[in-house]
This record gives sequence, structure tokens and C-alpha cells, in this order.
Amino acid sequence: MTTGFRYPRQVSLLARYAARMMRLGDVIVLELPAILMGTPGVIHPVALVGPDHVLTLVDTGMPGMLGDMTRELGAAGFTLGQVRRVIVTHHDLDHIGSLEAVVQATGAEVWALEPEVPYVTGERRAQKLPSPEQVQVMLRDPDLNPVTRAMLTREPVRVPVSRALRDGDLLPGNVRVIATPGHTPGHLSLLVPTGNILISGDALTSQDGALHGPLARATPDLPAAHDSVRRLARQDVQTVVTYHGGVVSDAAAQLRALADRLDGSP
Ligand SMILES: [Zn+2]
Repeated sequence: MTTGFRYPRQVSLLARYAARMMRLGDVIVLELPAILMGTPGVIHPVALVGPDHVLTLVDTGMPGMLGDMTRELGAAGFTLGQVRRVIVTHHDLDHIGSLEAVVQATGAEVWALEPEVPYVTGERRAQKLPSPEQVQVMLRDPDLNPVTRAMLTREPVRVPVSRALRDGDLLPGNVRVIATPGHTPGHLSLLVPTGNILISGDALTSQDGALHGPLARATPDLPAAHDSVRRLARQDVQTVVTYHGGVVSDAAAQLRALADRLDGSP
């Protein structure tokens, strides 16, 4: 396992964002500042509160975010030690960047949808990583963003997966697994029955409360991803938490309209 990764300091860029958290019943939504593709933004890992106060973390942010997550769980009245499992929506680095650190700190199990497992264990190369040749070309550019340089030169994440999930699996608290492939082959979303809260990962995005489809340039199989949006629109959903965009309240009509809009598109 890789330890000691230092997230390059871009404090001035991140200063205008502060880490926060928001509680929606049994769902704790973390709001963590991060630099993604050289651009500052906010990402939203989630912690699900189980019946016995056991926490299930859904995604783990970029490398170096263990401290932020620990602090915000603390603000919600929990400790990192209460995290017993991590569910990975998919293997993109902004979702599994701190997975090794979380597992090392907590001994939590890692669960992922079956087709995603080899990407999390490191058996397969990350799907969207540039080829080794492309990486060499990028690294020769002296103006390459330092965060991107650090991402390209770090050891890949390799974490054992304890449980391969399947579509329709019911998890503790009756949280339902929904396979939402397209953004990656084994992308999953979760439906929390209390409050009908959909944790969409990157199967959906949002901005200022408006729901959008997956980011096209980061979605290798767009037709499958649009099918996934239509699947999600058939669920009984009240609130959506997207990883990039956060909480969307009263989302049912928006989600159906979005699925209709994507209908017939390539
Ligand atoms: Zn993402």
C-alpha cells in the first residue's frame, strides 16, 4: 500500500472553499474542496449511518483527504473508527484516492460492483489513465500542472475488495445497489430508503441544484450511461446526492425530465 502521499499545496486556490458537512437523516454528505483536472472544486463523499451507528463510507476523495474526512465526520458527531466498510461507486482517482489511507486507518472492508473490482484491486489499469506513452509526453511538459504531475507519477491504488456487489443487492439499512454502468464498467449508485435518497456517484452530476447527466468527456460509454440515467429515473427518488454538485432536493421531476431529454440521444 502507498503511504505518505502529499497533496501538492495549492492553498491559495482552495482558500475560498471550506470543508463542510450536511446531514440528511442517515446520510452525512461531506463537502470537500479538491483540485480536479487542475481546477478547484468541491466533491461529495457520503457516510451512511447504519442502525448500530456503524458508518459506511461511499467514496473517499482524492489522495490526501483522510484528515478532511475525519474532521467532517467529527463535526457530524462520529469518529473515523466507526467506518466499517467503504463502498466504491467506481475507480476514478477522485473517488478512490484516499481509499488505502481509510482502510489502513480503520480496517474497513471495501465493497464494489463486480465489474469494477479488478480496477480497485489494481489487477487492471485505471480505465481513463493515459497510456504509458502519453504519460511520458505529458511529463516532459514543464508547464504541466503540479497536481496532474503528482497524479500521473504516483503508484496506482491497489486495495483488496472484500465483497463484489451485484445489481439489486440489499445492504445494511436496506440500501439498494443499482448498477449504473457507462461512466465506468462497474459504476454503482445507491438508493437509501429512508427519505428516498439516491447517491448517484458520477452517473449524474449537478450544479446549483440543477440535475445533469454524466460528464460526457469523462464517460467512455455514453449510451450505457444514458441507459443508466433512465434506470435511475424509474426509481422512487426524492433527493439526489451527486459527487460533483452535491445535494439536489425535490429531484424526482428533474430526474424524469433529464431521462426524457437523453432519450434517443446517442
Ligand atoms: Zn468523479
